Amino acid sequence: MRRVKDHYDVLIAGSGVAGLHAALQFPPQVKVLVLCKKELLLSNSALAQGGVAAVVDKEHDTCQLHIKDTMIAGGNQNNPDALEVLVNEGAENVLNLLDIGVDFDRDETGGLQLTLEGGHSRRRILHHKDSTGREMMEKLILAVKAKSNVDIEENCMLADLKQVENGFLAYVLGDGHCTQVTANYCILATGGIGRVYQYTTNSAIATGDGIALAHRMGAKITDLHLVQFHPTAFAAKQNRERFLISESVRGEGAVLLNNEGKRFMDRYDERLELAPRDVVSRSIMKEARRVGSNNFYLDISFQGADYLKNRFPTIYGRCLEEGVDITKDWIPVFPCQHYLMGGIHVDLDSQSSIDRLYACGECSHTGVHGNNRLASNSLLEALVFSRRAARHILNRMASEPHPILSKGDDLPLDGMPLPSGLRTQVRDIMQSAHFVVPNPVAAREGMKRVKKILAMLESSHYAVTPDFIETKNITTVAMIILEEVNKP
Ligand SMILES: Cc1cc2nc3c(=O)[nH]c(=O)nc-3n(C[C@H](O)[C@H](O)[C@H](O)COP(=O)(O)OP(=O)(O)OC[C@H]3O[C@@H](n4cnc5c(N)ncnc54)[C@H](O)[C@@H]3O)c2cc1C
Repeated sequence: MRRVKDHYDVLIAGSGVAGLHAALQFPPQVKVLVLCKKELLLSNSALAQGGVAAVVDKEHDTCQLHIKDTMIAGGNQNNPDALEVLVNEGAENVLNLLDIGVDFDRDETGGLQLTLEGGHSRRRILHHKDSTGREMMEKLILAVKAKSNVDIEENCMLADLKQVENGFLAYVLGDGHCTQVTANYCILATGGIGRVYQYTTNSAIATGDGIALAHRMGAKITDLHLVQFHPTAFAAKQNRERFLISESVRGEGAVLLNNEGKRFMDRYDERLELAPRDVVSRSIMKEARRVGSNNFYLDISFQGADYLKNRFPTIYGRCLEEGVDITKDWIPVFPCQHYLMGGIHVDLDSQSSIDRLYACGECSHTGVHGNNRLASNSLLEALVFSRRAARHILNRMASEPHPILSKGDDLPLDGMPLPSGLRTQVRDIMQSAHFVVPNPVAAREGMKRVKKILAMLESSHYAVTPDFIETKNITTVAMIILEEVNKP
């Protein structure tokens, strides 16, 4: 917090691929602050394994095919205009990453190695082994840190945001202090909502902060009930954060087995293990009911050990830590929360319904994914729409005078401690009300309970701490989802 100034042209909340890629676009005369709630490599972006989709092989692939595949996965509920932007601008955004040193895997001729994933009709996934997100993040961090106009602050949380004349007043929590910062524009890039659920593949930062903040400011939030559940997360019961066994493992031939060690996907879908995520997740839940067991496995052990260790080094290493050798053993898997399709409603320039407030990445809702995201399209969305946000802001800045902004009251850092167990209550409600197969009765009862918890958090004088803010945000997100689900 030592370096934080009183005023910036642009405040970016979030330092995943969306936030950092936005920051990278601003020229030296534009002063930018990037806030990162925890450490820079703690984000969903850094966890992305499979890769990023883009039509770079113009000989064998077309934008029309990528659009078609995305529409099929999204149940034709995608926003066609946003999808065109995503796909048409995708390749340029992804290839620009080569300039900052992102090391996508190459084939024997030195060309980019493109892989296939479930739902894609062509090889169009660029990847760096099975740690694509981390590779992108490491290079983006270096590139943004080299920019003298950008301050990046780790362990600094955007706790509250107020609209003031010509911009925003932000309350930033860090080192036990609260600092007020003004900015003419704000980009929310705070990521997903995984921590609203008991089990998720998401990192600890995914508490829906930007969405809850935007909602409190009156911004339009859309389709928050569109939550994606990944069918094959490592089933380690003791951890909230579940390690993902990526689609590409099934892409390389892994089969799904029930508690009796039998394949079962042919009962539910002719595409078998490579059916879309929602179909595989629902099939697992149906099979669980049929056989009366939640024990499911992926088997890829028939592939050579050398091949597996080289193709999936991260998955191999992580499973080994859990006592599972994927070259010999079946991998225990079960569906869990993975991704949010809905979010802060934005237009094609990533503008929210509030003037000067932008959103991009997983916290935003461009509509590109429709009802269900196609694998490897979300890093692409984060890249394309973060650049659009930055460019739109730059255009506006050129035609506006520089405003002077004011300060507000401080946040109450002293107050009652937060009662324990509130987050657990909310997570239990969401797990039973709105998991793979929604439960309308649990959703109705859950909404009443969630509203009570939120009313208590808002009316009592709790000390404003990161824990308090996150608990309030998780509860707000749960409430919006349950309100949408319960709408007649
Ligand atoms: C295990 C896993 C594997 C995945 N694999 C793929 C894949 O192969 N391909 C693909 O396309 N997508 C994949 N995804 C999805 C993709 O990684 C994410 O959707 C995308 O990276 C989101 O980027 P983001 O920048 O919006 O959010 P994040 O990367 O999650 O970043 C959010 C940032 O916001 C910050 N933040 C949050 N709240 C606050 C606050 N209040 N104040 C300040 N900062 C805050 C956090 O600290 C963090 O820096 C995967 C996701 C997971 C979880």
